[in-house]
Amino acid sequence: MAYVVTRLCVDCVSTECVGACPTDCFYKPADPAAGMPNMLYINPDECISCAACESACPWKAIFEESAVPAVAADDTAWNKYCSTNAAAFVKAEYENKTNPTEEEVEANKVKWGMA
Ligand code: SF4
Ligand code: SF4
Repeated sequence: MAYVVTRLCVDCVSTECVGACPTDCFYKPADPAAGMPNMLYINPDECISCAACESACPWKAIFEESAVPAVAADDTAWNKYCSTNAAAFVKAEYENKTNPTEEEVEANKVKWGMA
């Protein structure tokens, strides 16, 4: 079962997941104005469920599919959209960004109802 990026990634997009992934299966919307949430997505067809990204994500935004919280259930479909609508995505690239503080991570969870 593939791993899933949830809405905790929205506008955070810190990309440590990209650096950790052995199969290079993280994507971002090809057109930021196309209406998709501004976050990264995992193509479930390319994910080998190694779990490396889960611990690498400083925002704790990644879950194994069966463990995605109910409030973020729609995000599983968004990730699957990567495999069914490949033209809407481009490969995400690693960028060296500043990691959030513990307080910022907790505030982000509260913002999205995932605390
Ligand atoms: S490391 Fe986490 S928050 Fe950053 S881009 Fe990847 S999934 Fe999103
Ligand atoms: S579980 Fe492994 S293969 Fe799947 S997205 Fe995360 S790092 Fe990549």
